[in-house]
Amino acid sequence: MSTRLRASSLPDILDCPSRWAAKQIEGRQFAFSSRAALGNAIHTATAAFDTQFSIEGSPFEPSMENALSVFHQQFANIRQDWKNDSNNIDFPFSVASKTGDVLVKRYCLEIGCKIKYRYVEITLKNLDIDVNGVLITLTGATDRIQECKEGLGVVDLKSGVNRVTNEGIVKVGADKPQLGVYELLAAASVGEPMTAPALIAGLDTNHSTVGLSEPVHGARELLVGTPDQPGLLHAAALYIKSGIFPPNPKSQLCSEQYCPKYHDCNAHG
Ligand code: SF4
Repeated sequence: MSTRLRASSLPDILDCPSRWAAKQIEGRQFAFSSRAALGNAIHTATAAFDTQFSIEGSPFEPSMENALSVFHQQFANIRQDWKNDSNNIDFPFSVASKTGDVLVKRYCLEIGCKIKYRYVEITLKNLDIDVNGVLITLTGATDRIQECKEGLGVVDLKSGVNRVTNEGIVKVGADKPQLGVYELLAAASVGEPMTAPALIAGLDTNHSTVGLSEPVHGARELLVGTPDQPGLLHAAALYIKSGIFPPNPKSQLCSEQYCPKYHDCNAHG
């Protein structure tokens, strides 16, 4: 038995296995998600900044100007899809465009220019892991790998609502297993261990604020387990082996905005 597990899908299989199966086995996806489109444009723009400034050594101002230009070009291309997306009536295109502009600037000023990156938007080699007879192929691409005094470490950018609290805290919570996948794949791909703790750079589309999480230790161990305790991959393998993917209506993402199965799932109220 074998399956491919994208790093970004791991939180789904642990949070609501039924939602994971709907997306990854049945192939159900949203035709267009305005929130995801905003996140993609922000990701592309910040990657342009980090590539120019951190990797190529270009000056700050032109690197940031280029990043803003990249953001607005990409965002303008989805104007019509955005307006057609009825889920998004609470977030007009013009507001989202200003929000993205502020977030890209704040990322450049408050985060991007302070971190030395070795890799930006790197596609990682797949990694096969046998978990109790289930061959799981981990796949993914990591946003950044930084180089700091502790060595190399994964930095994941997360944009969206409530990514940064009013106190400036970036919660890690459900994203920790995903960081563990990135650490495993990154180490195998670049041929060096990720000895620095992982970080999440949060970009909050509600409040237009950015922030860095506390260093995240133990993401790999949470994923693959320790001699005393099985890891989350073992739990994922149990679902995959059984073919039973129970719903979790208490999931925070149990809504029509985030679940493509919402309208024909009878688990929620
Ligand atoms: S509607 Fe809720 S419970 Fe049903 S699959 Fe989606 S997230 Fe899970």
